[in-house]
Parts: sequence; C-alpha cells; structure tokens
Amino acid sequence: MRSYSLIAPAKINLYLEIIGDRPDGYHELAMILQSISLADQIDIEPIGIDTISVRCDHAEVPNDKTNLAYRAAALLAEQFPDAMAQFGGVAINITKNIPIAAGLAGGSTDAAAVLVGLDLMWQLGLTQSELEELAAQIGSDVPFCIQGGTALATGRGEELSPLTNLDHLYVVLAKYRNLGISTVWAYKTYRQQFSETYVSEVQDLQTRQHRVHSGPMVSAIMHRNGAEIGKLLHNDLEKVALPEYPQVLELRQAFESQGVLGTMMSGSGPTVFALTESETEALRVLEAVKTQMAHPELEFWTAKFVSTGIRLAHS
Ligand code: ATP
Repeated sequence: MRSYSLIAPAKINLYLEIIGDRPDGYHELAMILQSISLADQIDIEPIGIDTISVRCDHAEVPNDKTNLAYRAAALLAEQFPDAMAQFGGVAINITKNIPIAAGLAGGSTDAAAVLVGLDLMWQLGLTQSELEELAAQIGSDVPFCIQGGTALATGRGEELSPLTNLDHLYVVLAKYRNLGISTVWAYKTYRQQFSETYVSEVQDLQTRQHRVHSGPMVSAIMHRNGAEIGKLLHNDLEKVALPEYPQVLELRQAFESQGVLGTMMSGSGPTVFALTESETEALRVLEAVKTQMAHPELEFWTAKFVSTGIRLAHS
C-alpha cells in the first residue's frame, strides 16, 4: 500500500453575509469562498497498526486528537472499520504554510486533505458528495476545502454551488503574527450587536433567503470582472472586528492607499487581503505596505486564485 502527498489550499472569503439564526444554533450564511495557492502539504503514510498519529511542524498546532486532521481520520475509521482493519492505521504529517487562527481555514483544509487521501489509501471509492457529507460533520468550511475553486456557500457554509473560475486574479495577504481573532467571539459579538437586523424566528428562514445581497458579486464573478469583484467585497464580521482591532483597519487602509482592486478582512480575521490583477502588482503592493507599516510582527504572503481544492502533489 502506498503513501500519498496532498496539497491543501487556504481559502479567502470574497463575500460573507450573516442572514440570521438557524434552529441548530449556527448562523445562516451567504458566503463566496475562493481557494488560493497558499497551501499546506499533507503526507499520509500507512502504518501497519491500528492507530492514527498526527505530526505538524508548527509549534502551535496540536499533535493530538483535537487536530482537525486527526478528527477526519478518526471519523473515517469509525465509519469504515473494515477498511481500517484491512489496511491498518495512518501516520499524518502536516507541513504548515497557512497561518493559524487567521480566517484562512487552515485546519479545515488539512482535514479535507485527510478525507481525500484516506479515501484513496483505504480504497473506499467515495463519491464527491459522500466525501462532502462526511466533511460537514467535521466543520462548515471542510466541504468547500475538498471541492475548492470559487463557490457560493449557503446554510452553515456547507451547501455549495460552484461559480466561474477566477484564476487570473492574485492576492496579497497580511497578518500580525501574534494577533488572533476567535471565530466564536466574532459571531457571538455580531449576534449581540446586530441581531435586530435579522429575523431570529426559525420559521422566517424562508423570508431571510430573499434578503441575500450576494447577487451583484455573483454576476461580477460570472463576468470574471476583477475591478467589480474588488468593489463588491463584503464581510459582515468586519463590523465587529474593525472597531475592536484598529490595527486590522489600519492595514486595510494601507492596502486601499495602494490602489488595489479591493481589500477586506478574510472570514473572522484577522488576515487582511487585497486583490490585484497580476503577480507583479501583488509584489509591488506587498513591498509598499510592508515599508509603510514597518511593523516587525507583520507577515505577508502573495498567492494566486486557484480553481481546485484538495489535489495530489506532483500531479
Ligand atoms: P477558519 O477560517 O475555518 O475559522 P482559521 O484559519 O481561523 O479557520 P485554523 O488555522 O483552522 O483557524 O485554526 C484554529 C485553531 O484550531 C488553532 O488555534 C489550532 O489550535 C486548532 N487546530 C486544530 N487542527 C489544526 C490544524 N490541522 N491546523 C491548524 N490549526 C488547527
């Protein structure tokens, strides 16, 4: 039995609208998610015993059962005990390139890679929709991470509609090394401050579906119009994060001053991204903002939009 190496891309949110409360306690969302070339590498190797082990080269990522990659393997082992008995356990090695707790779905994409890799290693023959159903049990972003590309995500974020490929666009990302924003804090604070803007009655979910404002962004994506996409970037969570974290707002303003297509915080933050139409322009903006901000804790990356989710390395 062979080992597998998988590439697990990060995601950014081009659009995040909070529609309201759901009966399951989550928020009903309308998001547009985009895979980018900044990616972790996941190596999975058969081990002839009945165990799952995880090792990550980043000190702040747990190597125990709380690692989302471990949870993905444990879920498959529980669902397919015969495969585990036949093929044995798995050693998972994570090479971390995606910053953690950054709003870039780093943990979710690692879990997605383990699902895809173990499906191959244990010869399960799962369909895309079966994989995505299992993925949703691990986290709302995990199904998107499997499919990747550009997609409209509704429900908790797990109901996906693929959109047009945008692989002509580039992104600059920036994050303060020691700044993390808890996803739970961001959504909880939004509920406390803005719940009057949405109907919280369960039966009104249907009404709320009609309040989604993502139409113009979907249209800009269909036309592959980078300038329009930049103008229409939207993230409701900025309403709670920017007043609380002025350094995130400053970063956003620094990108804006460089005349980028658009700039925004990704997901629950604190990563801020800016869109450009070429790699050269992305590198220029990176250098300009780095010089302007001159902060030792600030880290930068450039990446390209990509049209796939989890894929085998070297393929
Ligand atoms: P999202 O955008 O989905 O909210 P995120 O990018 O903000 O995710 P992650 O990088 O996934 O956040 O990590 C959040 C926390 O999850 C980390 O603080 C870490 O302790 C834990 N974690 C568990 N497994 C992983 C993993 N494989 N990679 C990164 N973090 C992990």
